[in-house]
Amino acid sequence: MKYIAAADVGGTTIKLGIVSPSGALVESEMVGAAVGDGEKTAGLIASFVGSAKKKYKIDGIGVACAGAIDKAEGIITAADNLRIYNFPIAKALTLATGLPARLENDANCALNAELLFGSAAGMDNVLLVTLGTGIGGAMYLDGKQRTGSRGFGAEFGHMILRAGGLNCSCGLNGCWELYAGASALVRRASVLFPDMRSARQVIERAKSDANVAKVWEEYLEDLALGLQSLMSIFDPEAIIIGGGLSNAGAFLLDGVKRHMAQSEFVKSYYGGVEVKLAECGNNAGMLGAAALFPEVINGGII
Ligand SMILES: [Zn+2]
Repeated sequence: MKYIAAADVGGTTIKLGIVSPSGALVESEMVGAAVGDGEKTAGLIASFVGSAKKKYKIDGIGVACAGAIDKAEGIITAADNLRIYNFPIAKALTLATGLPARLENDANCALNAELLFGSAAGMDNVLLVTLGTGIGGAMYLDGKQRTGSRGFGAEFGHMILRAGGLNCSCGLNGCWELYAGASALVRRASVLFPDMRSARQVIERAKSDANVAKVWEEYLEDLALGLQSLMSIFDPEAIIIGGGLSNAGAFLLDGVKRHMAQSEFVKSYYGGVEVKLAECGNNAGMLGAAALFPEVINGGII
């Protein structure tokens, strides 16, 4: 049987795996990220692939990476959290292993995984919104993944929610991710409750503490406002919510749906748009990276 080796390169770790044609992750491991070092990042992936080649017939390497990437050339253009710029990782991997290598943005890979194996299966118009440190996004419209003219599209986190609001690292003020990302939730809660350190902690406390619950409701309101804007621009069949905060499950999903149900605008025009949780979890990046080889991974979309 043929397999694809997959790597999900994030700011702190690199997830490595071997994916079967049906999308099963038959082997996986995690190594620390080589921040600031593209060559070393490629070396870590190549070394995993070298060992795996002894056990599996591997036909290619799919890489998911955070940040701006050049998919056609396989170049990491600007991965700020990794501090890797203009590094031709696909070429480096092919040189080291003799295998073809393909690269895609991690949010796009996560959406691929949801389309093939998760909660977006069978859909033609769907958005992915990832609630992590910031807010990432990916869009699949009229049966095609869309990234804009230069690959910078679907940066949903930088929609302006509050004109003249908080300063964002992108240079704008009042971006959505400053109010509805996981870090935003912690920041909002820690203003009133300085012991709050993680989104998980805020969510747990919101279930029993009325004051924290109030912060949580304000957060949900801002999350719902952004989703409502996305509905009005794209009119998707569904918006899939992924990223670390989606681990809050029904508490998050039911909450944001409750806020959206209060919107006359949504009721009038977008009542049929589903809001769902991502299903592929931590493996989404790897599965979507493997799916960059649709000739091997059955039902591949791209
Ligand atoms: Zn911004």
